[in-house]
Amino acid sequence: MTSFTYAANPVRVVFGRGTLGTLGDEARRLGLSRVLLVGSPRYADTAADVLGPLLAARFEDAAMHTPVDVTERALKVVAEHDVDGVVAIGGGSATGLAKAIALHTDLPQLIVPTTYAGSELTEVLGQTADGRKTTQKTPKVRPETVIYDVDLTLGLPVPFSAASGLNALAHAVEARYAPDANPMTDLLAAEATKLLTSALPRIAENPSDVDARTDALRGAWLAGTCLDAVSMGLHHKLCHLLGGKFGLPHAETHAVLLPYVMAHQGLDDAGEIFDLAASLPIPHSLAELGLTEADIADEPEAALLRQAIDGTRPAAPPSLKALTNQVVDSFAGAPDRIRELLSDLVQTLHGYAIRTDLTQDEWEYAIGFLTRAGHITTDTRQEFILLSDTLGVSSVVDVLTNSRTPDTTPSAVLGPFYVEGPPETPQGADIAAGLPGTPLWTDIRVTDTEDRPVPEAVVDVWQSNEDGFYDVQLPEVDGPVLRARFRTDAEGRLRFRTIVPSAYPIPSDGPVGQMLDAVGRHPYRAPHVHFMIAKPGYRTLITQLFVAGGEYLDSDTVFGVKDGLIVDFTERPGGGRRLDFTFRISGSSE
Ligand code: NAD
Repeated sequence: MTSFTYAANPVRVVFGRGTLGTLGDEARRLGLSRVLLVGSPRYADTAADVLGPLLAARFEDAAMHTPVDVTERALKVVAEHDVDGVVAIGGGSATGLAKAIALHTDLPQLIVPTTYAGSELTEVLGQTADGRKTTQKTPKVRPETVIYDVDLTLGLPVPFSAASGLNALAHAVEARYAPDANPMTDLLAAEATKLLTSALPRIAENPSDVDARTDALRGAWLAGTCLDAVSMGLHHKLCHLLGGKFGLPHAETHAVLLPYVMAHQGLDDAGEIFDLAASLPIPHSLAELGLTEADIADEPEAALLRQAIDGTRPAAPPSLKALTNQVVDSFAGAPDRIRELLSDLVQTLHGYAIRTDLTQDEWEYAIGFLTRAGHITTDTRQEFILLSDTLGVSSVVDVLTNSRTPDTTPSAVLGPFYVEGPPETPQGADIAAGLPGTPLWTDIRVTDTEDRPVPEAVVDVWQSNEDGFYDVQLPEVDGPVLRARFRTDAEGRLRFRTIVPSAYPIPSDGPVGQMLDAVGRHPYRAPHVHFMIAKPGYRTLITQLFVAGGEYLDSDTVFGVKDGLIVDFTERPGGGRRLDFTFRISGSSE
């Protein structure tokens, strides 16, 4: 894929040693004169000195996950002191409070991060109320200026530096497989990974190593930019889930899970990151954070989490990427479109197996399922189309097709009951051949997209009987019934008689029926008549007309109902119903 979207979001970054000294100038640059200083006394005293007369008030109670009652107290201070901007100095918790204040007041924020959390670069705010954490995304909370001062990180204890550094690394890692990754985030992620993985062991050895601290803080900044620019994935999902449910510490949870998620995602360097984490003085297992196997048994990705419980080396699928690439490369000589379809299919299937941690038994079950689908398939029973229909794939392809021809009657899926070459039948015939049911008189027109009639179009029609069966499902019915081929007349018109179709279950005595049963889905289709309209020089239209007011319109088992195809089958004064409809088809070059 070569197309992408990248937004460079506005933030002013000041980076270096001793940059805290610029705080007053940076505050004035934002036009501030009455600043609220948020953060623990550790650094806030120095920051207060630098701010001097700009300082209007201080608030020191920032807490993890931004509890709303703390924010409310801070907002009182803001109001009492007529504050015109917020300065936060500290970790993600201090930043969170500044963001929460900005959410309510729109005040400009100036953040001085002292950890590697990256929160200062995003427009995301997580808050807790009554023990529940909610997250929101809004440009209102995006800080205006960030001052990174390496000197402030020299005192960050080694265990927390390591955990916070791996938290930052997780942002870069998730950017590598994010669906919205782009060349810019690829670069940022690669550089952030290089800086952080090289810096953390050096910091563990010597926490005052200024070069290592500089690399770590730069890495955290670049990784935080990734966090802001692309969607985070499985790793963040799991950390938030466990963090929220069991009250785990933020950075440490990230640090423990990262190598396992990387292995799960098939990243080559999962083993290296595991070794790096193992060499650092941080918790290495979910058990060390207080979790047991029973805690995670019902969580998603339980296989991955089980490994993380005891901290064993993740069962890395080491050469999977190479394997996938090898298979993709094997299509190099294929024609373009075939290469594209097969390469993507293989990548998707490999990714599916990796993401779901597919077991040998599950793989065998899937093969058995497909084999049974093959065995039950005949000329008149198409289990693979049923499978595609019930998984919604047929409708996806159909919607894509429709999107290319917006001026024509919407199409609908072919379904499994079409039989090639139905009998040519004269206009006016009754295709129900005496079967019981509510009589239906149809009056159909076929036009082009300019409303000009299309004569001599071949129109195949097929439908179910009163009990919801097609002729091919009824051994006692001899020959094609409720199935015919007509030709439109000189005015593009077509009239025939039939009966009103009924809702029916798709054949459920095969593997697809077992699948629907296993997931608690009903097998019914909303009542409809099928049409296939073809004429040389025109695009063939395959569609269905649904009976307005019929059953299952909202839960059609093949996801095939479209509003534009729901039609009134009106009552006829003499009894029975009428179906009047105009199909619009387009020339094949349109
Ligand atoms: P933190 O801010 O809670 O800090 C952890 C501890 O380290 C605190 O006790 C703090 O006082 C101390 N500390 C901070 N800097 C220090 C220093 N230089 N020296 C010594 N001690 C220091 O933890 P964090 O990991 O920085 O941030 C976690 C919070 O940030 C979580 O609430 C998390 O949800 C949030 N977060 C939000 C985003 C976002 O985009 N919204 C991104 C990342 C993290």
